[in-house]
Amino acid sequence: MNKQVIHSCNNTVRRMRRRVGTLLFNVAFLVALSLPAFAQGGAAFRSDRILVKPKAGADLANLHALLGIQVLRAYPMIGNVEVLQLPADTPVGFAIALYQQSGLVQYAEPDFVVHALVSPNDHFFGDLWGLNNIGQFGGKPDGDIDAPEAWDILHDASDIIVAVIDTGIRATHEDLAANLWVNPGESGTDFLGLDKRFNGRDDDGNGYIDDVNGINAIYGLGWPIDDHGHGTHVAGIVGGVGNNGVGVVGVAWRVQIMSLKFLDALANGAISDAIECIDYARSKGAKIINASWGWYGENSSALRDAIQSAGNAGIIFVAACGNSTINNDTNPLNPASFDLDNIVAVAATTWNDEIATWSSYGATTVDLAAPGESILSCAHTTDSSYKYLSGTSMATPHVAGACALLRSRYPADTYRQTIDRILSTTDPLPSLAGKCVTGGRLNLQKALLGTNGMTVNSAVGPLASPAAITGVR
Ligand code: CA
Ligand code: CA
Ligand code: CA
Repeated sequence: MNKQVIHSCNNTVRRMRRRVGTLLFNVAFLVALSLPAFAQGGAAFRSDRILVKPKAGADLANLHALLGIQVLRAYPMIGNVEVLQLPADTPVGFAIALYQQSGLVQYAEPDFVVHALVSPNDHFFGDLWGLNNIGQFGGKPDGDIDAPEAWDILHDASDIIVAVIDTGIRATHEDLAANLWVNPGESGTDFLGLDKRFNGRDDDGNGYIDDVNGINAIYGLGWPIDDHGHGTHVAGIVGGVGNNGVGVVGVAWRVQIMSLKFLDALANGAISDAIECIDYARSKGAKIINASWGWYGENSSALRDAIQSAGNAGIIFVAACGNSTINNDTNPLNPASFDLDNIVAVAATTWNDEIATWSSYGATTVDLAAPGESILSCAHTTDSSYKYLSGTSMATPHVAGACALLRSRYPADTYRQTIDRILSTTDPLPSLAGKCVTGGRLNLQKALLGTNGMTVNSAVGPLASPAAITGVR
């Protein structure tokens, strides 16, 4: 530790000594000289918050009071994890060291900042090759997820809620509005006969006023407006309205998309706010969570606990595996690489049906791939805007949409059975061999049929193709 850091620590210690008292100070000083690794570089984190998980039966109230710390949120369903607001002059590393040394917590950790996994190289040409590749870009015909074939079997998952935890969603978009989840507790009329959606009241008593389609966890508001565009694009891939004569079409033509915003206008967000979204999704009955974001570096035990709690509620967590051409087996991406059986980690393929050059991978930590390069979907700028984006962010919602159709078709499945249907029916690709667990790309038709390599539905007739797929833009 260099002199500047030690000097800074000493100043901090003097301030904290006044606040904490001599006894605790002696403990704190020792640990302050060995600040956790994150305090010396690595993943970014918020300077004003930390996350702690109390040991069973431990009461942190006195410690919080001594340090002048406020509990912003607590999660009974996530092992009582707490989000703590630090006083302005308290360094994150110092506060974490204090809690760790108190003996009262299982862990104390920074509130890491995460970024959406979209690539900035937009492409404004072409069509929805990922759903149906006819070589329209000179790519490989049938290098797609066989969506039209699958839609002959099922294209409606209107009984399934998919939570898109992202930058929010443009709720008025022509190809999304009809597929947005509507909170039953914030719709209909209240005791005054007013529309609950716009009455300025928290009708369902969950702490959010008028959370009709979801929440903005950053500001604690009920209107998750998309001021970036990433979430709107992801939502269109999961469930752009099918066969409505406009725009694009999602993997599921009909589905309930819950909009949970924790990424800001720059697509950055804090893990404490992601956890709030996960807890909300669980409390409102979501079956699938789409997480098109992540970070390399120190992991978050609190986020892992939150995703595990979602699994306990039967929720599948579909996560992007990163756009850095990194082997996640040796350099894990959080949260895609967490060792939890309700996580599906997704890499990206191109219209040549090969792994994208920028896609991360991992023979044991990435499950499968899906189309992710030059994907057309909804844009947040107007109600009729569409655009192309690339990234594992775009591959992930193809799998989330597939999960929605599978959960609708096989409602008695456990979350793991649903995941296994997808993983056991991929199309193996040479470029994915050794790059992911299955070595294959999503095949929606085979997943819905529960078979692999079987000749199917030739007697069904013309393959369903929604009118919406034409006349794009
Ligand atoms: Ca509410
Ligand atoms: Ca209301
Ligand atoms: Ca459409």
